[in-house]
Amino acid sequence: MTSLPKVTVWNEFRHEKSDAAVQAIYPRGIHEAVAEPLRQAGFPVRTATLDEPEHGLTEAVLDETDVLVWWGHRAHPEVRDEIVDRVQARVLGGMGLLVLHSGHFSKVFKRLMGTSCDLKWREAEERERFWVVAPSHPITAGLGEYFELPQEEMYGEFFDIPAPDELVLVSWFQGGEVFRSGCCYSRGRGRIFYFRPGHETYPTYYDANVQRVIANAVRWLAPAGGPVVTFGHRPQPLEAVT
Ligand code: ZN
Repeated sequence: MTSLPKVTVWNEFRHEKSDAAVQAIYPRGIHEAVAEPLRQAGFPVRTATLDEPEHGLTEAVLDETDVLVWWGHRAHPEVRDEIVDRVQARVLGGMGLLVLHSGHFSKVFKRLMGTSCDLKWREAEERERFWVVAPSHPITAGLGEYFELPQEEMYGEFFDIPAPDELVLVSWFQGGEVFRSGCCYSRGRGRIFYFRPGHETYPTYYDANVQRVIANAVRWLAPAGGPVVTFGHRPQPLEAVT
């Protein structure tokens, strides 16, 4: 693909409406904070939120989406199973999916992983240090050997996910835990990247390194243009078999 992938940034958009501290950090919503640097980098970006019809993820919107970015937290149960089915089918068909932070517990991510996706967590204003463990991977392009966020929520191992196809970032937290914070998968024709940071009470999505990882990930997640696969009964063999 030569042109930049078309991105839809999805956010449940609830904390920003009810919590003044979150609203102060993300006055236009986390989705807009994630979308804006992507727009500035030239990506065509739209946003979608939980309370829109069909959660903003109509078939028409997904027809125009190469990469879907997902931020959700307390409203995971409100995401309708019909939309989860739809997003899963799109990923298997080739759409990229970038799951951020508490999206680890989204129905969409759990469906695609097939595990509990559970982890340890703590909100204690602690420092997070991300180590690059795949310096050849395009998602780490332009980063140093490590980068830090001064304050984040801690997520700790064991993170109950399938072993990633490629692990590109590992986080260390001030309190001593570690976490696989940048995980690559393929499912069907599509790619998935899980990126850990982004708790709603910290200005994480304004961080230049975080923005770089997100932009790199969106490029990597773009549909690769491989064959459209088909399944099922094949009564006519390609070669004579008798
Ligand atoms: Zn959080």
